[in-house]
Amino acid sequence: KQARSVINFSAGPAKLPEPVMRHAQREMLNHEGTGLSVMELSHRSAEFSKIISTTEKDLRDLLDIPDNYKVLFLQGGGSGQFSAVPLNLMRLKPDHTADYLVTGTWSAKAAQEAKKYGKVNLVLPPTKKYTSIPDKSTWDLNPEASYVYYCANETIHGVEFQYIPETNGVPLVCDMSSNFLSRPFDVSKFGLVFAAAQKNIGCAGVTVVIIREDLLGYAMDICPVIFDYKSQAGHNSLYNTPPTYSVYMMGLVFDWVKEQGGVAKMEANAKIKSSTIYNLMQESKGFYWCPLDPGNRSRMNVPVRIGSPEGHEDLEKKFLEEAAKAGFLQLKGHRSVGGIRASLYNAVTVDETDQLAAFMRNFMEANRR
Ligand code: PLP
Repeated sequence: KQARSVINFSAGPAKLPEPVMRHAQREMLNHEGTGLSVMELSHRSAEFSKIISTTEKDLRDLLDIPDNYKVLFLQGGGSGQFSAVPLNLMRLKPDHTADYLVTGTWSAKAAQEAKKYGKVNLVLPPTKKYTSIPDKSTWDLNPEASYVYYCANETIHGVEFQYIPETNGVPLVCDMSSNFLSRPFDVSKFGLVFAAAQKNIGCAGVTVVIIREDLLGYAMDICPVIFDYKSQAGHNSLYNTPPTYSVYMMGLVFDWVKEQGGVAKMEANAKIKSSTIYNLMQESKGFYWCPLDPGNRSRMNVPVRIGSPEGHEDLEKKFLEEAAKAGFLQLKGHRSVGGIRASLYNAVTVDETDQLAAFMRNFMEANRR
């Protein structure tokens, strides 16, 4: 039975699986008979060592992470990595240049930050309208770049890569914050992958970094030690106090993903859920509009406009008000783009998505002109 009568479609911090929340609640005051909350455990205790090592092992199993990759649990969020990536990797090659594929707000912010630490080459022509990914044949990749950076899923605009870019040996760096563990991927194709936890894999406070070992040791002198991947790897992410409770919650989410059938099962669900909403828009005969080109539509963050491709302010406002009354929460698009956005992360069930679709259908019938 659902403990809560609302459904959270937030883009993040986002819904967590019900069994994970129950588990955390049961253990809140007494973790495995210690009489202590995980929040109260020393990060050097045997109990926390078990939590962090099991969490890492479960992630390695879920993604089949090769042995020559380190897994780090860091603070500073996704934005912290916008700085940490260039601070650690810009010096990989003598030109101190990095290629950035900018496909939305988050990769734009990452590119902006990287400019502080080296030269940034924009692989795609600058645009304000992020609705598609230009064809690969038009990309301006620099073979002397230290790394190629992209964001697998742009949370605000809903632009998601359906493939892994080919970089001809230049290390590939990816921000997977908003689609991590929603589809299997070959880790060995990447130099570095990072994901802030608060969307698909836990609560805010921890960011997972998966990095190939040969990329360690290039940090600039000015790199803060807590962002130095080599130092953090050498200390198993315990150089200083890690975000202990967030690591624990993430571990519970990994357990849950395993129980559900792993990342492949998450992908199967994501396809079903997102196509439910995209198909509904398609069949709405101009009532609902999707701003995105079909080839790069996100399975995680589905943007919806009502009334016209640019949206209709009154109708969208009415939709959000009625949705909230009916228990469908946090459907408002990001303030920079407006409209509606349904985030369908792993914890949002197929049934909950069907309920949203039914609400959308009723709203359409009642408001069609
Ligand atoms: N990258 C992506 C894809 C995001 O969606 C976000 C936040 O929403 C970030 C990075 C920034 O993460 P943080 O707020 O943890 O710095």
